[in-house]
This record gives sequence, C-alpha cells and structure tokens, in this order.
Amino acid sequence: MTADTTRPLSAPAARPESARLFARATDLLPGGVDSPVRAFGAVGGQPVFFERGDGPRVWDADGNAYIDWMCSWGPLILGHADARVVAAVTEAVARGTSFGAPNRREVELAALVRDAMPAVEMMRFVSSGTEAAMSALRVARAATDRDKIVKFRGCYHGHTDSLLVDAGSGALTLGIPGTPGVTRGAAADTLVAEYNDLASVEKLLDANRGAVAAVVIEPVAGNMGVIAPAAGFLEGLRTLTTAHGTLLMFDEVITGFRVGPGGAQERYGVTPDLTVLGKIIGGGMPVGAYGGRRDLMAMVAPSGPVYQAGTLSGNPAAMAAGIATLRALAEPGVYEQLETTAAALEIGLLDAARAAGVPLAVNRAGSLLTPFFTAGPVTGYAGAMAADTERFGAFFRAMLDAGVYLPPSQFEAWFVSTAHGDAEIEATVTAARRAFATGA
Ligand code: PLP
Repeated sequence: MTADTTRPLSAPAARPESARLFARATDLLPGGVDSPVRAFGAVGGQPVFFERGDGPRVWDADGNAYIDWMCSWGPLILGHADARVVAAVTEAVARGTSFGAPNRREVELAALVRDAMPAVEMMRFVSSGTEAAMSALRVARAATDRDKIVKFRGCYHGHTDSLLVDAGSGALTLGIPGTPGVTRGAAADTLVAEYNDLASVEKLLDANRGAVAAVVIEPVAGNMGVIAPAAGFLEGLRTLTTAHGTLLMFDEVITGFRVGPGGAQERYGVTPDLTVLGKIIGGGMPVGAYGGRRDLMAMVAPSGPVYQAGTLSGNPAAMAAGIATLRALAEPGVYEQLETTAAALEIGLLDAARAAGVPLAVNRAGSLLTPFFTAGPVTGYAGAMAADTERFGAFFRAMLDAGVYLPPSQFEAWFVSTAHGDAEIEATVTAARRAFATGA
C-alpha cells in the first residue's frame, strides 16, 4: 500500500484535464468514448481519463489516484500492470507483435485452458468476447441446422446482432432494449427467456420444437449486476437442452477463470456443449475464444465447413499475457485469497449500509459482486430492475470523489483482484460509510 490511497477521502477531486480531453473526445468519438458505459451516462458527471494503473489502483490524467473495483471489466484478475504479465508481454512484443501465422504460444494457452476446462476439448482464439460468442453461435447453427436461439433477458454476450436483443450491460444501463441496425430476421430468431426461471425456457423450447440451435447463458449473470444461478437451474437447462437436441452454450467471458479455475461449469458441475471465453484468458490484451466438444469444433474451417478467421487471432502478445495470467492463477491459494477478499468487501458494504439504514442487497459469486440498492433479494431480472439507480448514481459520484472507482452502472459487476487487500477494503468501506451518511 503506497501513500496514494491515504489522500483525503472527502475532497472532491479536480479533474480539469479529464474534462479537457472529454471535450475533445466528444468531437472525435461518438459520445466521447469507445464503449458506451464509459461515458457515465447512467451515473452523471463526466468520464475520468485514466493515465496508468498499478495493482489495485489507477491514476487519472490529473494525477488523482483511485482504488479500482472495475479492473477493465474483469480481465485484470491480478490487478493492473502485474509484473509477470508485463514481463511476458514485453518479451513477446520485442520479438514481433503479430505474425498472421501459427506461433507456439497459441498451443500453450490452449493447453492451459483445456487443462482447466476439460469440456473445452478444442478451441479457436479470436480477439474479443463478441467475436467468440458470434462464432460459437455459427457453429451451433451449423451443427443443428437450426436458426433460432434462446438467450436470457439482461444477459450480455457482446454486440453481435442476434445477441443484442434484451441485452444487459450498456444496453440495459442506457435503456436500449433493441437497437436500430439489427435486422428483423436476427431479432425474430432470438427468443428471450427469464434468468433463473426454467419454466420460461421450457415454454420456448416446447413452442419452437426442432428450431432452437442453442440456449446461450451467462452461467452466473454479470451484466444485469451479479446474479448467481438458483439451485438446479443450470442442471435443468442441461436436461432440457439435451431433450430438445439443442446445444447448451455457456458464455464464460466473465466467469471463466474468475469464479474458479474451471469457471462456472466447474463450480456448478454442469457441462455445456460450447463455451465462450474472453477477458482473463487474455490478461488485459484483446482476446476471446470459443470451444467445446471436439465434434462441434471440428466443424470450424479449415477442418470443417464453418468459416471463421482473424488477422490478429492468437497473436503472441495477447497469448503471452493470457499464459502469464493463467500460470499466476494456478499458484496455490489464489482463489481462496480472492474469495476471502471479496467476502470481506461484501460484509463491509453490508455493515456500512445497515448502520446507515440504507436498503442494500449484495450479490456475490466468488470475486464478482454487485451491491444492489434495494432490500432484495435479487434473484432475477425483475429483482435487479427494482434497484434504485438514482441512489446508485449518487453513491457512485460520492465514491469517485473519495478516490474509489466503481463500474459506472448499477447493473454491472465489481471485480476483485489478487492485488486488492485489507487496505483497499478498509478505504472503500470508509468511503461507503461516508457516502451513505450523506444520503448517497
Ligand atoms: N460476454 C460477456 C458475458 C461479457 O461480459 C462481454 C463483455 O463484457 C462479452 C461477452 C463481450 O466481450 P467483448 O467486450 O470482449 O467483446
């Protein structure tokens, strides 16, 4: 812990350089950002421009320090600029950033993934979670010769057309249930079920017999805030999909190597046919992957007819970051440490809220958590929607001014890293107490 986090918790930070950059950015980039939630639209105020990160902390363009619980939306499970990751990437980059030809690191990372997730018998690396989900869907449709898919209200799988219907994350945060530019055909092929409601899935599968290629789910919902699967829910999906000849696709872009080394499929003991990965397996570099049963993945070109390709896929820099991250996560005690840190944060936030009489429900799955401003419980989409987003916005702004950077939306996960410890929790809970005391 350096002296930076001991800066006064109550002094609103001046951010003139961020303001100047944002003014320029709005002229150059739509909304001034390259991804919608970054714009602070749901919480008010102006986005903070980051200059650098180290461990659990980031510094903005004006030199203000923040404890970062957003951690680039999940990839940075080791915190910012982890020395092992930096060394691996530096070494790789010095030998060339991209070959557009096979390199040994792809093989090494694939082996590490399969060791941890045996159901991912074969995989293909791509450059984002969006690309991975889109490509996995193509395989599912090709394998089943069916067009329709079932997804869940509030779940997010990247911005490919058919998965944007009733999507979570930025679409939910900004109140965009569908988006212009998605064809009617894509929307019509997407059936929407309710998370943690098996009957809603059964109804759709029954009404669309022989037509549904895949049921696609975040096994722990993370993009309407964190919601864990109810007992029996994922098992029920496995049984239903098998009975209907429909593939079960787990989007583990967030949960992969996060809720445990083998992701949600290991934590909850349910084996999907296809798995979508991203974030942690790229250690903070642009990466995604999709994989699963050998017979399904063998359909992907060039071994099969399903076309999918990528100029930068499997590039050595991203592979090196992923390998270094997965190796670090394989050290003994890492997931126990993450669990302990996240549990302490959960308890601290709950205590602070209780003391101030603020209704707060904290949902947590391993090192993912979301404090919902509602008495709860939050077990599905409707429960999440009951949260007080105005109050979250006030809380977010108070925390930001106290030097704590949170995901700028009520409907997102906070990401705990191995770099976070007692000092960060104490500072965060102290800031939360003050925020609650002032009505935020
Ligand atoms: N799937 C899930 C569960 C995600 O949370 C995200 C992004 O946050 C994606 C897919 C899309 O990944 P990317 O932003 O890398 O395209």
